[in-house]
Amino acid sequence: MATTGSDGPVDAEGPWPAPPLADPFGRVIDYVRISETDRCDLRCTYCMTERQSFLPRQELLTIEELGRLCSTFIDLGAKRLRLTGGEPLIRKGFMDLVSDLSRHLQSGRLKELTLTTNGTQLARHAEALARYGVKRINVSVDTLDADAYRRITRGGDLAGVLEGLDAAQAAGLKVMINTVALKGDNAEALPAMIAWAHGRDMDITLIETMPLGQIEADRMDQYLPLSRVRAELERGWTLTPLGRRTGGPARYVRVGETGGILGFIAPMTHSFCETCNRVRVTCTGTLFLCLGQDDHADLKAVLRHNPGDDAPVRAAIREAIARKPRGHEFDISGRGAAPAVSRPMSMTGG
Ligand code: SAM
Ligand code: SF4
Repeated sequence: MATTGSDGPVDAEGPWPAPPLADPFGRVIDYVRISETDRCDLRCTYCMTERQSFLPRQELLTIEELGRLCSTFIDLGAKRLRLTGGEPLIRKGFMDLVSDLSRHLQSGRLKELTLTTNGTQLARHAEALARYGVKRINVSVDTLDADAYRRITRGGDLAGVLEGLDAAQAAGLKVMINTVALKGDNAEALPAMIAWAHGRDMDITLIETMPLGQIEADRMDQYLPLSRVRAELERGWTLTPLGRRTGGPARYVRVGETGGILGFIAPMTHSFCETCNRVRVTCTGTLFLCLGQDDHADLKAVLRHNPGDDAPVRAAIREAIARKPRGHEFDISGRGAAPAVSRPMSMTGG
């Protein structure tokens, strides 16, 4: 059984502290992103196909298994968990998972529990999220134009998302807006989006499209290099780089004119791998060591073969992380290029 401790990783095999989870390059892995479902109530054009097929429900980890797996990562030293998807807030029992994990926040072993959501269900859940100890959430909004929103998401209702943002802020949640930069859909509107977010006391991060999964569109038609966006923004605004590093791909600046924080996630134009501190787990319990690589470990099988005994699960996680690759090999090299990896972001967990 896993034991609990006040500080640091705890290994049930002995009274001594377990070594931190470290990969072959000495990077300490203390951040886990875990997808609760591959399903979604939207169909964003850069993420999914219109007729996306989803996994049979029995292939998904149950809410109890998700809780057990998260707790095992915390035993191994994970300090930050991000729950994602698909759309996490449409997973049945999702708030039970958040409630279960809140005990680790209370004990101090988990420093942060966060969520990435499209915001459609946020109005209903914001208050409970705050009550269970969630302090910050990322909400994906690619445009403030209701028609463009409906087009990008294939049917989404922007007004409901804006209500969700109001509810989140009223509940005291700090909001980071995620906006995917899309050549045809929102390139012109990005300065206005940034000003809107900052005007509402929200941070905002721009994301480059990544070649994950098959979609109908050619990614070359969507891909907008953030280097170009940044150069445009700098014609009108003063962007001061911030030292803030999260161990992830984002680089942050402060916008002098708005006073707010702006992030850039530009995996295509900037390698972020040297300081990577994270791994991702899919809703089927597959541990991916790198967003842009296929190497993985099947934790669902280990969980199911060892009910009530977390030691084999800990061993499987350690063994997998011992072969985490140095970095990704993303490339949108030209029209018709195959995706870097075949699984969409909605499966790996963005
Ligand atoms: N459904 C939730 C949402 O949209 O926030 C959580 C999952 S979604 C996969 C997480 C993030 O990944 C979103 O901000 C989304 O815009 C982004 N995303 C999805 N597919 C992407 C892609 N191919 N390239 C870059 N970002 C992508
Ligand atoms: Fe759903 Fe998020 Fe993918 Fe959009 S980006 S289809 S909201 S999982």
